[in-house]
Parts: sequence; C-alpha cells; structure tokens
Amino acid sequence: TKPVYAFEEADSENRMLLGGKGAGLSEMTRLKLPVPPGFTITTEVCNKYYDNNRKLPKDVMPLVMKNIEKIEKKTGKQWNSTKNPLLVSVRSGAAISMPGMMDTILNLGLNEKTVGGLAKQTKNPRFAWDSYRRFIQLFGKVVFGVNDEKFDHVLESAKTKQKVKDDSQLSVESLKKIVSEYKKICESHTKRKFPDSPNEQLGLAIEAVFKSWMGERAIVYREKNNITKDIANGTAVNVVTMVFGNMGDDSATGVVFTRNGHNGKKEIEGEYLINAQGEDVVAGVRTGKNVSLLKKEMPKSYKELSNACSKLEKHFREPQDIEFTIEQGKFYLLQTRTAKMSAMALIKTSVDMVKEKLIDKNKALTRIPAQQLEALLHRTMDESKVKNHKQLAKGIAASPGAASGIAVFDVKKAIELGEAGKKIILIRKETKPEDVPAFFSSEGVLTSLGGKSSHAAIVSRGMGKPCIVGCSELKINYDNNTCAANGTTVKEGETITIDGSAGTVLIGEVPTVEPKVTKDFEQILSWAQKTKSLGIRANADTPEAAKLARQFGAQGIGLCRTERMFNASDRIGLFVDMIMAENIEERGKVLKKLGQLQKSDFIQILKAMEGYEVTIRLLDPPLHEFLPNPEELAEKIHKLEKKKATKELKEAKIILKRARELAEVNPMMGHRGVRVGITYPEIYEMQIRAVFEALVELTKKKVKAHPQIMIPQISSIAELNHIKKIYDKIKKEVETKNKMKLTINFGTMIEVVRAALTANELATTAEFFSFGTNDLTQGTFSFSREDVEGKFLPEYMEKELLERSPFQSIDVNGVGSLIKIGIANGRGIRKNMEVGICGEHGGDPSSIKFCHKAGLSYVSASPHRIPIAIVAAAQASI
Ligand code: ADP
Ligand code: MG
Ligand code: MG
Repeated sequence: TKPVYAFEEADSENRMLLGGKGAGLSEMTRLKLPVPPGFTITTEVCNKYYDNNRKLPKDVMPLVMKNIEKIEKKTGKQWNSTKNPLLVSVRSGAAISMPGMMDTILNLGLNEKTVGGLAKQTKNPRFAWDSYRRFIQLFGKVVFGVNDEKFDHVLESAKTKQKVKDDSQLSVESLKKIVSEYKKICESHTKRKFPDSPNEQLGLAIEAVFKSWMGERAIVYREKNNITKDIANGTAVNVVTMVFGNMGDDSATGVVFTRNGHNGKKEIEGEYLINAQGEDVVAGVRTGKNVSLLKKEMPKSYKELSNACSKLEKHFREPQDIEFTIEQGKFYLLQTRTAKMSAMALIKTSVDMVKEKLIDKNKALTRIPAQQLEALLHRTMDESKVKNHKQLAKGIAASPGAASGIAVFDVKKAIELGEAGKKIILIRKETKPEDVPAFFSSEGVLTSLGGKSSHAAIVSRGMGKPCIVGCSELKINYDNNTCAANGTTVKEGETITIDGSAGTVLIGEVPTVEPKVTKDFEQILSWAQKTKSLGIRANADTPEAAKLARQFGAQGIGLCRTERMFNASDRIGLFVDMIMAENIEERGKVLKKLGQLQKSDFIQILKAMEGYEVTIRLLDPPLHEFLPNPEELAEKIHKLEKKKATKELKEAKIILKRARELAEVNPMMGHRGVRVGITYPEIYEMQIRAVFEALVELTKKKVKAHPQIMIPQISSIAELNHIKKIYDKIKKEVETKNKMKLTINFGTMIEVVRAALTANELATTAEFFSFGTNDLTQGTFSFSREDVEGKFLPEYMEKELLERSPFQSIDVNGVGSLIKIGIANGRGIRKNMEVGICGEHGGDPSSIKFCHKAGLSYVSASPHRIPIAIVAAAQASI
C-alpha cells in the first residue's frame, strides 16, 4: 500500500485502510458522481505516526504535496495563490464512524495574501474575510486547543460595537479586525506566530487529526461502543477541495437520508440551508429547511440530488446518509455512508428493497441487527412527551418496555392493590422468588441492587414486564415507604414511569405507545422461519406466556419452570404449608392439592402449545427460597412481640425456625434441583404424576400434547437413574389405571460441569439434553450469577479482562467447549439426540450463532425475544 491515495486511485473496498469517509469519497468518485477532488492519507500512516513517537513519516508530506499539485491541475486553482487560491478541508475518518471525535478544519490555505485572492476570485471580500475568520477559529481550536469561548467573545463584542445582531451583517472592516484579534488569541496561547504558510497549516492539521485518535473523547467513545482494533485501527485523513455553500442565495448545504430513517418510507429525508457552510446544519446554528422545499427552490440541484441518491442506493444496496453542498448552482457530494435507521425503518426498507430487486431475501435478513428488533416488541414511551417529565434516577436496563404506575415498596401491598385494579410499579432493594406473586400484579419492577442476571431481571424478562435493576442512586427506605434520588423523594402512591430499555425512572405518568408488529415485520419473520434450521422454543411458565410465544412464532416450550407456578398468589400459601409440614402424611395432603393445581396448569399450557413439545422441568430452587427472609422475619417478630400479637407471633416463630433450618451459606450450590427431588421424593412424585395425568386427560380429548420431563441439577447417572425409577413406577401406575400407553420423553438438564463431562453416561438414560447455560456459566467461571454484575464485572470489562458478561453472551471458549463435549458425548450414545439450550443465552443473537454452529436442535428464549431469536437463527444459517 501507499501512504496517500487520490480518490480516483484508491481501492474503495478497503475501509480499514481508507476509513469510512475516504472509502465513500473514492467510491463516489469512481461512480463519476460530483465529488470535489481530494485524497486520503491512510490509517497505516496514523499507526506509523504513533510508532514513530508522534512524528509524520518522512515520505508523507512530499506525497501530500504531489497530490495537492494533482488537485491544482484538476481544479485550475493554485495552492497559496493571490489570484485564485486552492483551499481544502481536512477531515478525519476511521473505518467506523465516530461522531464528534474531532472537528473538521475548513478553508485551510488562507492567509493574509490568499484571502485577497479569494476576495478577487469570488468578487466578495466579505465572504473571503468571513471564511478566513472561521478558518483561524477552527484551526486554533482543533490544532492548538484554544478554548472556543475566547473567539466567541471577540465576535460578540464586534457585533455590539457595530450594533448588528447577525454574523452576516459584519462589515469587511470589522471582519479584518476580528481576524487579527483571533490570531493574537492563538499566538498568546502558543507563544509563536500563527502559521501563514499553507504547507505548514496542512502539516499541522494532518497531525492534529492523527492526535485526535488518541484523544480522551475518542478513547472513551471506542470503549463505550466496543470498537476494537480489528474493526477500526487508526484514523485516515481526508483532504478535500473546498466548495462553498455560503457564496450567496444560489448556494446551499445539506444532509439527507435516501429513505426515511424513522419509518423507512421511500422518500429523501433531511435538511438544508441556503447560503451556509456545512457545519451550520449539523451544529444546529440555524434550523434547516425540509429537503422537499429544495425541489421548488433549486429544482435543478434537487434533480441532481435525487439522481445521486438512487445511484448510490443501487450501488451500495443500502439506504445512504449523504452530505451535499451546492456552490453557485453547482452540485457536489461530500460524504456518503450507510444510513443508521430505526428498527421499523430497517424492516420496511428490507421488504421494499427485495420488492425493488435491489437485494435478495438473505441480504434483507442479514442487514437487520436482530438485537434492534427488541424496540418493536414492547411498549415504549411516547418520545414527544418525555421532555415534560423529570428524571428521578437511572439504573441498569434489565427488561425492556415502558410502564407507569404508583410506587409501592411492599410485596403484599403490591398484590393487594394490583388485584384491586391499581397500576403498580414495585420498588424493592432486591427481589426473591417469594416476591414473584407481586410481579404478576405489577406493571414493572425497579430495584436498587442487582445486575442483569439478578432474580428481578430474569423473572421480569420472562414475563415481558419492564424492569430496571441496580439503580444504586435510588435510596429506598422501607420504614417510611419512600425512595429518593438526586434531591427528589417519591412517596408510596405517587406515580412514576420506568423505561426498562433505557434504564430511566421518570416522575409522573409518561404516555406509552403500543408495540407494532407490522405486515412488513411479519414478512421478515416468515422469511426467517423458512431460512433458519435451528428450532426456536420459548421459556414459558404460564398458559398466557405459551400463547404469546406461539403468536410470536415459537415452536414449543424449551423450559417450563414448575416453581414459577407455585408462586402464583393462590398457591404460594399451600407451598409454604407443604414445606412447613411436620411429617410425611401432612405433606402428602398438601401435595395432593398442589398436584391438582399443577395438573390443570399443565393441561392449559400443553393445549396452548398443541402439536409442539413442552419441556417441563421439575422443582429447581432450594425450598427456603419460598419462605420469608429470616432477617426480615426476625424483625417482624420483634414488632409482633411489642404488639403482643400472640397467635401471629407463634406462627412466625415456627416459620423462622424452619427458615433457619433450611438456610444455606451457598444456596445456589446447595440443597436444590434433583437433590430436593431425592430427599423429598414426594414432591417430584407429585409433579411427575401431574404431568402424566394431564397427558391422560388431553389424550382422551384427542389433543396432541407432547410433554417432556426434565430433571435439573443432575451431576451423575446415579441421580438420574434414581429419579427414572420413580418416573417409571408412576408411569406404569397411571397407564394401568387408565388403560392406555403414554409417551413422555425423559431427559436431563446439563448445567453442572460434571454432567457435561459425563454426558455419555447420562445419555444411556436421558432421551434428551437441555443445557442450562446460566448455571453452567456460573459453575464454569465460579462467578455467582446473582452478584457479579453489581460487583467486579464492570471493572473486569474496563480492564479488558472480559469483553462482555458471560451471562449475556455465551463464553464460547469455556462454556462453549463444555457444550460441545456434552453434545458429542450424548450423540455418541444416542444418534440424533435432541439437544437444546434453555438459559438466558437462548435469546442472545451471538449465542444463537454459536448454538447453530454447535449443532444444537433448538434454543429456548423468553416469549418477547422469540422474533429476535428467529431472525438471529436465520442469520446464523446464511
Ligand atoms: P463529520 O465526520 O463530523 O461529519 P465532516 O468531515 O463530514 O465531519 O465535515 C463536516 C462538514 O463540513 C461536512 O458536513 C461538510 O458540510 C463540511 N465540509 C467538509 N469538507 C468540505 C469541503 N471540502 N467543502 C465544503 N464543505 C465541507
Ligand atoms: Mg460528515
Ligand atoms: Mg439452572
């Protein structure tokens, strides 16, 4: 490669080398579109600049000057000329656009002599001196780091002196004075003369662009947006002949999208300004006019613009974001890049461009970042109304969507008020499984502790309810039921709005708008369904969730968590009774009632998913999770003692005793999952029987039900066989009683490291596997999924020890290897064995890509992420 390329000679495919802006300019030049002549200094030079102790390599400036000569030939203008001077802009541009990384320097090449040339050439001294003034200001700011305010101050006092309001009313005389003041400002800042030689100006400007790459702003931007060296390595510098949109009323400058960026409609959308220079539009100094007016004001230029738009779209096969300038009626293009569009616009343009035969269906699917579809699947705040509401606090966006309701800090109260028809936002420091009934009766959940994989976050996502967690600036006070942040206090009963997509908490009720599943969205989903090979199932625990998931396109349920069912408010009491039962007989009685409830739940869920498989997981969490927190209970007992409420006191004391008995130091690795099933076999027996009986009933009604039973936390074949015996016994019993043969697949979760490693043994009994990637990740890293995000994980990412949370996106090297071992081991015993995953990762596009490659049969995701999973699965297979 060469250090410098003229636009017409560069290989515009090579964005890494030329940067996005340079590649676009060179491609437009090749397409014979009207681009002012110029050249690009490559990103390689930027890297050499740094390797070379921040000095330009020796060969660069001579090459730059050769290219300036080329421009002179093309334009007929001359560098440093007093008759018709060539002026240029110096613009940065990395492979990925990084808005605001550095300011562009315009009008470079002006000095005391050339400014006269510009005045003569344009017959407009005012314009020439104004350009000179702007140049010194930008150069001073960007190259020398002079504070902008100093220049503004001079400008303002000149205006006052001349008694004018607008910059454009300043006389040539005042502009000349301003120029000399501006220079003095620079000179007192740098303690040296302001550079008059265009060569020196150009060299300094190029270095300034390279320096900006390692500027604080740029570094932070790259970190925040995960821009690593493999996607953008250094910035290029583009030197472009100046064209002037500010040469009178036949000149203009503007920015447009070739299609509407919000809704995707095929229309040129954007703004322009007559008699203005580019920066004015972007900076919002003056409000632009809608580009549709250009059609009337400058019909010839509008025609050129619209021709350019369609030519660029045809070429890039993507809607473009374009900058243009009209100089005395002549139209120029200054930039093009792929337009950043809303999810709705991406979908509409994908469908439209297929109809227009601009792209094929595969391209239509792959150009939509699956993650972005999230925005279309939840209620959102009415953007136009947000500004009327004060922001109380900001936390971690944990489950998307917006919701309003009254602040309630107590779980019981939330249930009561919710059942009475009130809209509630449940606010807690953190939540526990026993709080789940309150989730059902709330519109949304807000916690001050916890991260994206905390209990509140996972449960909310499963239910499709908005949730914010880890809102640490919010101080919650349970004693007087208030929360406060940033000087504002919210009392119980006051209305707030939470936006679980942005993490913001607002005061008052912000109107929300319905999610839109448009015809175009349906079209995209149906193309994706046909393209993908991976199965998509839902994590769904209720008939409602099952129905919703099916509407969104799920083909089955990959995880039905039976404990969630116990949390519904009509049965949590029963479940607690079961735990509290003093002997097996008493427990048996309660279990019978619970069994009836579970059976009817299973019937409804299996019906909602008729024709598809429904994987039912037996009880997983430790029992004490269903009992109140011992600390809180002890506090309550303390209060009851004061009140002398003897009966309640006695009850509370018994529960406390049991809660303490069951408490564990490390409950996630404790007495849970199959270990509960082995020590309290009556619980698993009840659940297994409920599934079989539900199947009997549905079979009699000719409903095609396909339940599968799945055992959690298995670490050995001995455990699995132990449960299988119980299962076989119940199966036989139910079959004999009803005189029918029943088929249910019996399988296991693989979520313990040992299970993955001994999957060949497990497969002798298990008919299917499902990887529980949450627990498997927890076990593989020894990271507590409940705690990491609020503790050390952010620092790990900051220090680049981890690229992203392994709980969000599968850790391919570690957890991924275990999954591959598990699959190979399992399928080594049972060819074509059904193997899926049911962790939170099932809805994450990059994890889905991994699952597709690893040969999994399906992924299971929460209902609201099903469309994302479908599109991501299609993309993985393209
Ligand atoms: P950014 O990357 O921030 O968009 P640009 O390099 O595109 O910065 O420059 C900002 C604006 O300056 C452009 O929108 C354009 O209007 C104006 N500009 C840049 N180069 C020229 C030029 N050669 N002639 C006229 N205007 C220019
Ligand atoms: Mg630009
Ligand atoms: Mg698990």
